[in-house]
Amino acid sequence: MVQSRVGIKPYSKSIKLSNIEQINKDWDFTIGLEIHVQLETNSKMFSSCEYSYDKSPNSLTCPTSLGLPGALPTINEKAIDFAIKFGLAVKGNVHSSFSFSRKHYFYPDLPKGYQISQYDEPIITGGSVPIWWNNEKYNIDLTRAHLEEDAGKSTHDASNKKSKVDFNRSGAPLIEIVTEPVMSHPEQARAFVQRIKQIVNYILISNAEMEQGKLRCDANISIKKRNTKTFGTKTEIKNINSFRNVQKAIESEIKRQHKLLSKGDSVKQATLTWNNEKNTAEIMRIKENADDYRYFPEPDLPPVEIDKKHIESVRKLLPNLPFELEDKWIKDYNFTSAEASILSNTIEIASYFEKMASNTNPKDANKWITGELFRLFNEENQEFDDKRINHNDLSKIISLVNDEEITAASGKEILRKLFYSDLEIDTIIKDGNYKLNSQEINIDEIVKNVVKDNQEEVKRFKKGEEKLLGYFIGEIMKASSGKINHKKIVEVLNKELKKN
Ligand code: ADP
Ligand code: MG
Repeated sequence: MVQSRVGIKPYSKSIKLSNIEQINKDWDFTIGLEIHVQLETNSKMFSSCEYSYDKSPNSLTCPTSLGLPGALPTINEKAIDFAIKFGLAVKGNVHSSFSFSRKHYFYPDLPKGYQISQYDEPIITGGSVPIWWNNEKYNIDLTRAHLEEDAGKSTHDASNKKSKVDFNRSGAPLIEIVTEPVMSHPEQARAFVQRIKQIVNYILISNAEMEQGKLRCDANISIKKRNTKTFGTKTEIKNINSFRNVQKAIESEIKRQHKLLSKGDSVKQATLTWNNEKNTAEIMRIKENADDYRYFPEPDLPPVEIDKKHIESVRKLLPNLPFELEDKWIKDYNFTSAEASILSNTIEIASYFEKMASNTNPKDANKWITGELFRLFNEENQEFDDKRINHNDLSKIISLVNDEEITAASGKEILRKLFYSDLEIDTIIKDGNYKLNSQEINIDEIVKNVVKDNQEEVKRFKKGEEKLLGYFIGEIMKASSGKINHKKIVEVLNKELKKN
């Protein structure tokens, strides 16, 4: 079809669609994620050896985490409790008996030649995680979440062709969270990974910082022509290092698969790696057949049995979860999903809002927190900190504005002064002379003077030029430095104009 030569684009709607949306018109995307989260228990999964991020290389090791012959594993109970917490948070099945298995593979950062993981009896199965996408809720089903140990960290220096291994991370506790292949858009995958980070932050089991490798995500992707039944062949992308790149890596792989299938080629089962510099996922290896890890039960660790009562005692430690709060706010306060998600972002913001909502109109609390307060934190490039402004002070500002004792502009100014100084709110209000209609201002006097000084306008007003009312109000505001509220001005002004 010939495109018109003048400035009007005949198919502007489809032209605006990104490549991905274009492909999505005829093709279905299927995405499943495997997410590793490091559990912040301070010690390793199978030994009492310390683990923390960013210590000098190979300073945090022990015979077990180095895989020395004869070293025996013991189970980190705190890691079990953390996994239970996660399982309960996502309403999965928390099993009271589970076992560990050896997963065999060779890699220089895996000195034992196997990783202790879980295979047929994981601690958690099922569960689901609600996410928002285009203002709709999607419940993403989980297959399982299991405990395992991390491997060491290899770094490769291309300049001198040397590789180094740091065994600090070797044996660090992880949960691996596996989803069903139920996500249908790269943005959903990104929202899911962000949600996982948020949940593990809320339940205090990990800071899950992707830059520190504390949350790592592998994405499985396949595409199929719309209205066909069977899934396409999937590929897996490893080493995705940021939320943004979860989306970008999946998009790049969808485009690659689409290109192949459109030419009549087939997608080969493959493992890809995300290349940050080139902004694309590259093939690392083509899989001829399924990986064979030769799983077998870990002979050095007996199957674990936990008391159901213990699981219930862990349940008591759970806070209100972000998706529960969102549902409540949407239902009780009529918030949109977008408003609710901004307030639930971190547990600090959520509890600050909850405290305010107990004595302040929730819509106002939301407006002032996400509008004015967030603006101040953004100005300073700071994370939200509930200690910076006492929630009672913000509630007080809102109630003064609502009762028209101060103007909204003054409210913002007071908040700003509170934010940047150590002064008490009452001192700021008194010193700044913010109270409207205060004793020092003689409203009647000011109004009388404005009317007297503008006799010409008064005449025109009386002849029907009603818009001059705004002019008078402006003059009165000026004369009183904005310290009289609008309603009061109109009241006194009307009286005064009638007299004239
Ligand atoms: P494997 O045996 O290759 O490890 P699994 O069936 O265990 O594969 O699934 C691993 C991950 O791949 C899971 O997150 C799952 O949701 C996802 N997955 C499975 N099949 C597909 C598919 N056809 N397309 C996209 N993702 C898939
Ligand atoms: Mg694994």
